[in-house]
Amino acid sequence: MFKNFIGGEWLDGPKVSRNINPSDTRDVIGEYAQADVAQTQAAIAAAHAAFPAWSLSTPQQRFDILDAAGTEILIRRNELGELLAREEGKTLPEAIGEVARAGYIFKFFAGEALRPGGESLPSVRPGVGVEITREALGVIGLITPWNFPIAIPAWKIAPALAYGCCVVFKPAELVPGSAWALAEILSRSGLPGGVFNLVMGRGSEVGATLLNDPRVSGISFTGSVPTGQKVAAACVGRMAKFQLEMGGKNPMIVLDDAELSVAVNCAVNSGFFSTGQRCTASSRLIVTEGIHDRFVAAMVGRMKALKVDDARKQGTDIGPVVDQSQLGQDQEYVGIAKAEGATLAFGGEHVERNPEGQPGFYMRPALITDTTPAMRINREEVFGPVVSVLRAKNYEEALQLANDTPFGLASGIATTSLKHATHFKRHAQAGMVMVNLPTAGVDYHVPFGGRKGSSYGPREQGRYAAEFFTTVKTAYTQA
Ligand code: NAD
Repeated sequence: MFKNFIGGEWLDGPKVSRNINPSDTRDVIGEYAQADVAQTQAAIAAAHAAFPAWSLSTPQQRFDILDAAGTEILIRRNELGELLAREEGKTLPEAIGEVARAGYIFKFFAGEALRPGGESLPSVRPGVGVEITREALGVIGLITPWNFPIAIPAWKIAPALAYGCCVVFKPAELVPGSAWALAEILSRSGLPGGVFNLVMGRGSEVGATLLNDPRVSGISFTGSVPTGQKVAAACVGRMAKFQLEMGGKNPMIVLDDAELSVAVNCAVNSGFFSTGQRCTASSRLIVTEGIHDRFVAAMVGRMKALKVDDARKQGTDIGPVVDQSQLGQDQEYVGIAKAEGATLAFGGEHVERNPEGQPGFYMRPALITDTTPAMRINREEVFGPVVSVLRAKNYEEALQLANDTPFGLASGIATTSLKHATHFKRHAQAGMVMVNLPTAGVDYHVPFGGRKGSSYGPREQGRYAAEFFTTVKTAYTQA
């Protein structure tokens, strides 16, 4: 049994939950403790007690701990990648890549612990000096989704610790394995007891307790829009700081002058890899008239060759969907699109078993054409390997369609026109813009986040992470 980590100790929970492999539902990865309200409150109390000392720990102490954690994650990337692929269903190379990203994030924030910054400037009054410094916010509740089981926890935990905050981490119910492995590494890293706590369990119980406890100064949340709205309402109600990273309906424009192979590579990568289960996935392809038919034909050609199979098998391009409920949602949206008059150009079938006969949540990637902007498939996030195509007359119409969405996370364009690429970078209503690159797949040392319904509050990652995890103090001194 894998236990919760509270106040520096491993503790059983009142309940347990089974972690199942979506590539083979007969394979039980392990049984993981499930915290209840009381155990979550104990973790909050431990973090609260640890905060005064940890917030004053030296940059060297924080650097050493984060750097050591990053080193261990990188050394163990293959083994941790196996576990991640087994519990979440992304392919082994993708999973190993995600683990490596987590390792580099710890190393990046180890460095940031040494560079807290600050300003010293003269006052407008004679003889007075002004200092502007950043101080740790307090105890932070971290609530994460299932689709990046180690990278998203890493990009919240590492800055929280680097800037002197204490952490109560609640991972998604479907992927406790990677969260537990990360907690186990941190449990041996030299962190004082209570600085980092792991509480696995349900959102409505563990998550809601974090939202409502006055000892938790901030909530960093990544997940769906409806849950994000609950987080916001609870935090505003008690004046806690919060940041939200939520869904997307990310467009990728393909212009007539695009290099076809570049456009297809970008669309296949960010539409279908990681089973389309990325908040930055290109789920709407907006294609101009002159290239539309060639592009769709080339996409279908590529999709026919994609292997949907066990996430850990060599040669698999697309692993399974994460669970039965997500699979049901993906299938439902293919049906909705067809019922609304769109064409299923390729794929979309649920495949019950892989070639070895393993029962899993397999689904062939789906390409849906002849869609209109008002169709639900173009307005709502599916979060699976389902991509729609919209036809546009020209660049101007394509840009208008790209921005015609309640979301604003990532936006991409495939073009060889410097003029259109430059215009698009300025006018795309999104937090991240990609030119001739997949909308999914970003660097770990620069800010990540979106606009409109996709995000709320300060950006995550890179130096910009300091904005959420610290609070600014302005001190005046009369000499
Ligand atoms: P989800 O909203 O169902 O769950 C996210 C987390 O919130 C989980 O840990 C869950 O247990 C918890 N939770 C649920 N109810 C809660 C409550 N009442 N109070 C507190 N916590 C609660 O999302 P998911 O299905 O795990 O993840 C998929 C979603 O995440 C998609 O919408 C995707 O776009 C989004 N996502 C966004 C980003 C980004 O950075 N923008 C990255 C990855 C995923």
